[in-house]
Amino acid sequence: MDYLPLFHNLKGRKCLVVGGGEIALRKVRPLLEAGAVVRVVAPQIRQSLKEMADVGTIQITVKTFHPDDMAGVALVIAATSDQQVNEQVSRFARERNIMVNVVDNPALCSVIFPAIIDRSPVQIAISTGGSAPVLARLLRGKLESLLPDAYGKLAQLADKFRPAVKAKLESENSRRGFWEKVFEGPIAELVFRGRMQEAEQALADAIDNPDVQACGEVYLVGGGPGDPDLLTFRALRLMQQADIVLYDRLVSKEVLNLVRRDAERIYVGKTAGDHPVTQENINRKLVEFALQGHRVLRLKGGDPFIFGRGGEEIEHLAEHGIPFQVVPGITAASGCASYAGIPLTHRDHAQSVRFIAGHRRDDDLNLPWEELAAPGQTLVFYMGLNGLETICHQLMTHGMDAATPAALIEKGTTARQRTFVGNLADLPEKVRLGEARAPTLIIVGHVVGLHHKLKWFGEQHGE
Ligand code: SAH
Repeated sequence: MDYLPLFHNLKGRKCLVVGGGEIALRKVRPLLEAGAVVRVVAPQIRQSLKEMADVGTIQITVKTFHPDDMAGVALVIAATSDQQVNEQVSRFARERNIMVNVVDNPALCSVIFPAIIDRSPVQIAISTGGSAPVLARLLRGKLESLLPDAYGKLAQLADKFRPAVKAKLESENSRRGFWEKVFEGPIAELVFRGRMQEAEQALADAIDNPDVQACGEVYLVGGGPGDPDLLTFRALRLMQQADIVLYDRLVSKEVLNLVRRDAERIYVGKTAGDHPVTQENINRKLVEFALQGHRVLRLKGGDPFIFGRGGEEIEHLAEHGIPFQVVPGITAASGCASYAGIPLTHRDHAQSVRFIAGHRRDDDLNLPWEELAAPGQTLVFYMGLNGLETICHQLMTHGMDAATPAALIEKGTTARQRTFVGNLADLPEKVRLGEARAPTLIIVGHVVGLHHKLKWFGEQHGE
């Protein structure tokens, strides 16, 4: 181990920052956050530091550094661009056994600053030993995304109830099991949503009856159109903590791979015209698993509330008093449009956009064609591959120009994305020749004309 990570209590302690520029300012901030008494010494001081001194947040002495400035100091930071001064500060500090940090020069440091994730009282410090600070910052970004903002509140809650849990549960093992359930279950979710009072009540109840099997929770999560990078932070977090996953055909393999390794996975997808798992069955399973205390992930392609029957599923949960939360996902229209370089609205071409279910019921597409054929809007048809010819034909019959641009995007946002571009008259033939396969999305409107200029996603199999 190159360094021993320690968390330093600097409240009320004197810290000296040598240097008055931007780099000094960057060091002053975390010191103040940690409650240190900060003094800045430099012959020239930038305005933002002066303003801090004006309101009494820090002290400033305008002069060159002198070793006497270190009297009574717990930590000194050299943040000057003068190598000689930095070396001097380092040497004097070491002679006096004062902790010293020289910015961007690990060799002159006795302590180094980590990249910090602050969810006080929870804190994570990441260091590369000064060898690659950028890497530490990238790592921090990855971790930040997994830790909800209110993570610290969770620790505060645990702190408050720790004595009560200790009194109730004697063995260390049972206490550990108890806290694991709290930190990864519905109580933590309440905290993350800012519902502290309910969380406290639920925790108090759980302490009173630690053996009662608490009800689980259902997470109705939108998995987006395919590219796993399009998941939300919350979706990823819940995917990582669920015990059981019920997923659809449209959830991509790459997205499914991000579900917790040891979670049970149940495929409940429907193939067109054939319903191996009925909706009633899915609804029943969700309730059953939750009542058994499981954290159940209902993972859907795109957004659960857009042509996803998500509403029906949670209606059923609500009727049975099962706690649930809904996490939006990027719907196919947004995903495919972005990755095909087709803005869905545009000041010059379309002031509104409509999402339409384009699948045929009993061989008939019953849609308000007059309205759809009106100008100034973009039409997005989900589930429209089989009905493509009818869609184009009907729009033309109801007055839309045959030359209106139209596109069909196959497996949008994935490495297998293909975009077919044409107009109402020729798109069906192009798609037939290209043998497009579901899932596909159809976009009709003048915005499609921007595709050639705006396409950016290098399609491997495309035009
Ligand atoms: N809830 C989903 C839609 C479910 S309906 C969402 O919000 O995206 C299923 C239809 O979505 C498919 O028939 C297809 O039209 C569209 N779709 C979903 N993913 C797609 C993708 N990656 N590429 C193209 N179309 C997609």
